[in-house]
Amino acid sequence: MRVKVALKTLVCSLKDLFFPRLCAGCFSAWLPPDGGFWCRQCLETLPWIRSPCCPRCGRPFLKSTWHFDHLCGECLIQAPPFTSARSAVAHAGVARDRINQLKFSGQIYWAPALAQLLEQAVQSREPGSFDCIIAVPLHHRRLRQRGFNQSGLIAGMLGKSLRCPVRFDLLVRRQWTEPQTRLSRRERLQNVRNAFSAARPAQVKNRSILLVDDVFTTGTTLVECSKVLKKAGASEVHAVTISRSLPEMRTDVEKVGIALEL
Ligand SMILES: [Zn+2]
Ligand SMILES: [Zn+2]
Repeated sequence: MRVKVALKTLVCSLKDLFFPRLCAGCFSAWLPPDGGFWCRQCLETLPWIRSPCCPRCGRPFLKSTWHFDHLCGECLIQAPPFTSARSAVAHAGVARDRINQLKFSGQIYWAPALAQLLEQAVQSREPGSFDCIIAVPLHHRRLRQRGFNQSGLIAGMLGKSLRCPVRFDLLVRRQWTEPQTRLSRRERLQNVRNAFSAARPAQVKNRSILLVDDVFTTGTTLVECSKVLKKAGASEVHAVTISRSLPEMRTDVEKVGIALEL
């Protein structure tokens, strides 16, 4: 075991020596070995989502003078099917750029840097907190078009760092859905309704699941996936995304036609 760890350290050191990394944010700062994928300055300037926020759906209260987390109006009226939802950063600036480059330009080399951000959205790191990680699946047609599932990619990396199994066979997207870019929340709900199903309900029953997606836009995809997993008997579904589109930003984002939730 010790030899294995020493070998791994040696390989990492050699890799850092011959292939030093530039920061994924500014792309100008060289990073120290094992220093992650972002320089300190970029990490400090990323739009982190912090308290106060809704403990259930993770909506941040940007203008609140109250410092404590509290349920938002929507969760008070109707609690979402997920146990909790959290996003690391607001869907803006360099985080949004890297997600879009990964998703729409196939620049998969941004995945580890984005997985590092996603880790910040995971609340509990206690071993055994989650029985498995499930990524929001793509329809096979979309998977063929894109060649990879961006959520699956970052879920795999998260699974490695949390030492938690990642399952790609428990949740499937059976129904083709149109891109959600220009749809209202109601239309998005209609669009994804019945799109997902649990492939092996017996393996979901009584399990605590960490559900991974790239962007939380209106939450409709996560709501629908959580509903399916809960119906299959999951005890808890904790949803995490790298970024979250905030209502005041959403209009701008949709105006320029960036596809956020495919
Ligand atoms: Zn930087
Ligand atoms: Zn809420």
